[in-house]
Amino acid sequence: MNIANWLHDQALCHPRRPALFQGATPVADYHGFAARAVAIATWLGERHGIAPGDRVAVFMKNSIDYLPVLYGIWWAGAVAVPVNAKLHAAEAAWIVNNAESRLVVTEDGRTLADHEHKQGAEIAVADLPAAGDNAIVPPCSRHQDDLAWLFYTSGTTGRSKGVMLTHGNLVAMSLCYAVDVDTVSSDDAALYAAPMSHGAGLYNFIHVRCGARHVLPGSRGFDAAEVLDLAKHLGRVSMFAAPTMVKRLVAEARHRGEHGEGLKSIIYGGAPMYNADIREALDILGPRFIQVYGQGESPMTITALERGRISDHDAPGWARQLASVGRAQSCVDVRVVDDHMHPLPAGEPGEVAVRGQAVMAGYWRNPEATEKTLIDGWLRTGDIGFIDEEGFLTLTDRSKDVIISGGSNIYPREIEEVLSLHPAVREVSVVGQRDPEWGEIVVAFVVADDVDAETLTRWFTDHMASFKKPKKYYFCDELPKNNYGKILKTELRNRLEALA
Ligand code: AMP
Repeated sequence: MNIANWLHDQALCHPRRPALFQGATPVADYHGFAARAVAIATWLGERHGIAPGDRVAVFMKNSIDYLPVLYGIWWAGAVAVPVNAKLHAAEAAWIVNNAESRLVVTEDGRTLADHEHKQGAEIAVADLPAAGDNAIVPPCSRHQDDLAWLFYTSGTTGRSKGVMLTHGNLVAMSLCYAVDVDTVSSDDAALYAAPMSHGAGLYNFIHVRCGARHVLPGSRGFDAAEVLDLAKHLGRVSMFAAPTMVKRLVAEARHRGEHGEGLKSIIYGGAPMYNADIREALDILGPRFIQVYGQGESPMTITALERGRISDHDAPGWARQLASVGRAQSCVDVRVVDDHMHPLPAGEPGEVAVRGQAVMAGYWRNPEATEKTLIDGWLRTGDIGFIDEEGFLTLTDRSKDVIISGGSNIYPREIEEVLSLHPAVREVSVVGQRDPEWGEIVVAFVVADDVDAETLTRWFTDHMASFKKPKKYYFCDELPKNNYGKILKTELRNRLEALA
């Protein structure tokens, strides 16, 4: 089935439900939203010869046009290639070319033309047609195995790859949201404060299916004050937020003496959430949190930690479960495996592997990478973790980030957890540095207010085995992050190499 059928269905059954909001202002109902998608689909076909299966790239910041453009592409049976708007035009051009896109929709003034953009035409979003009074014809028929979304990975460990997500993958992911993450109704509002080319955008589907409101912030990105204002105004707001966004939201709410009124759910994931941070978030904002763990290759759908598990302080095992990423979502099997893909017993760390309906069809035009990553239907995530007797998965690190010092495996995540508990530490990232004696030594990069290495060492050894303590601290104003806000450990390691 075509994922756009869900919008078609809403337009037929609930045409007057408010659908798209520019900030707090309603801009289109479900009829208007679908009519625009149909107009764009027709124009793509008639003007640009876009046929089912063709790729159309979208290089835009979050905006009120984003969803109609995506749905126009799917209505025509084509494949959307959303490109993170924060990328440099040269990186975007690389993705557009790699996807062999026939067309790229850009924002005014952001052209790829100077960057070896060889594929297809480039059109400005302002030139796309408005909703006409044409009939809302059904979307082009698609099979569940047909490609819907080419999702380019954030490339924290190398060049970005095109993850092939089918209509079936997107349906499975969305149904899992409704079962494992949160209930959705037409009273809800999905707020897009993180890039729609990534997780935030993937969460549109279930909200379309349930006829909810879709809210595009005026800032076109994340502004904590704006989120709190919109939530108060609109009510029942749900949003996806990376841990750094949660921290900023909590700081803003605390500063205002508020508690996130009007926020229904904050779904966090995408990077480790440290214990100290989620506890503070619960204190200030209350039981509004759900955690997901996923990756582009199994989008938003590996495990989930439900609201009750996160907020119920008195439940047995609460603290332990809070440090986990929860249990397998309904449409996937999750295992921890050794180097030969054999499952490991409960409690033993290994690589997390996933199989099921949300798992990608493979990497676009990259059979070698697909072969290395999908083994007999199991996706190797590259994440290290262990599953306890009750099925809770705790992530320790990316496999590439584990530090081997004097023959012991040291997981940077535990060290980061301890250091982030220190009141002066605002952000921390731990990496290994090559060392002739130990193989590798532990090095911490810290963003902090007025604290020195000696104090942090004392703090650390009060909490954790001394052999894990960082041998060196580097204090900096900020940590290098990619366009999704993930800390770039590769860059930290490069800095260390340069210093050596
Ligand atoms: P991406 O494909 O860019 O979304 O990155 C996915 C990676 O982010 C995963 O493989 C994990 O390493 C990390 N990640 C995602 N969700 C979580 C989470 N809840 N906790 C810790 N790390 C996460």
